[in-house]
Amino acid sequence: MYTYNDLLADIGGLRRLGGRISYIGWTAAGRMIPCVHIGSAQGAQIIIQSAIHAREHITAKLAVEQAYYCLRRISLKPAGGIYFIPMVNADGVSLAQFGLDAVRSGARRSFLLQVNGAEGTDFTLWKANLNAVDLNVNFPADWGTGAQNVREPAPASYIGPAPASEPETRALMAFTRKVKPALTLSYHCKGEEIYWDFGQSGAVRQRDRETGQILADLTGYRLIDGALGSAGGYKDWCIQTPGIPAYTAEIISADAPYPVSYGLLPAEFVKNKDVPFEMLAAVGRAGESGSGALG
Ligand SMILES: [Zn+2]
Repeated sequence: MYTYNDLLADIGGLRRLGGRISYIGWTAAGRMIPCVHIGSAQGAQIIIQSAIHAREHITAKLAVEQAYYCLRRISLKPAGGIYFIPMVNADGVSLAQFGLDAVRSGARRSFLLQVNGAEGTDFTLWKANLNAVDLNVNFPADWGTGAQNVREPAPASYIGPAPASEPETRALMAFTRKVKPALTLSYHCKGEEIYWDFGQSGAVRQRDRETGQILADLTGYRLIDGALGSAGGYKDWCIQTPGIPAYTAEIISADAPYPVSYGLLPAEFVKNKDVPFEMLAAVGRAGESGSGALG
């Protein structure tokens, strides 16, 4: 499995290869959330974020491998730059991997045990952060209207006491507003599907679907039309408020049981290794042709 400490070690490796390291903010328990920038600060930018759901930590490893792959092929990079945020929910990932040993505060341990209910000390299926808020339903985008929403602390799907109540949510929003990316991509697992639709209309809808089709063709994942009861997600917020084309890619077959085996990662990497440069190239083309609000 891929841990927060593995990420911190890789941050050093990525820096030595020329990646620029920064931190978008802090988690609820005070872990820094690292970010790696590759390429030029001028021109179109894209953001790739992973592991906003704790048990989906395999996606953090995928993003780090993409970053290494891009740095080794930097001479082939299209104009612009890519920000990788491999582990947004670093607290939740640590909880899913190490259980309560990953939690310092005694009060918080008691709280988490209570929320975990019959699962007891087994947190391997946990998705939320250490406040038991599911970060990907905490964004202010039709907050609280999602089909699966839960209204009290839970291992998954709790919307939080208010929109953007969580430090991880606010950090990702502030960073996105600062960077003004031409596209964002969120890696989740599992299902081999791509979500892009949050009620866009007209030319924007056509633009976002076309770019989604490029992503679907690259990965072999299925492009899914319709919002399907989604609300409060990072993708949803990007589309609704700053008006950024935003995609959720669910890696790995839906048949694979949780926790997902890391033995499945090499095949997913092959499907996704060219995604960062290809998506950057796509937003660059859109910016040149003036066909949308990209670039
Ligand atoms: Zn997820």
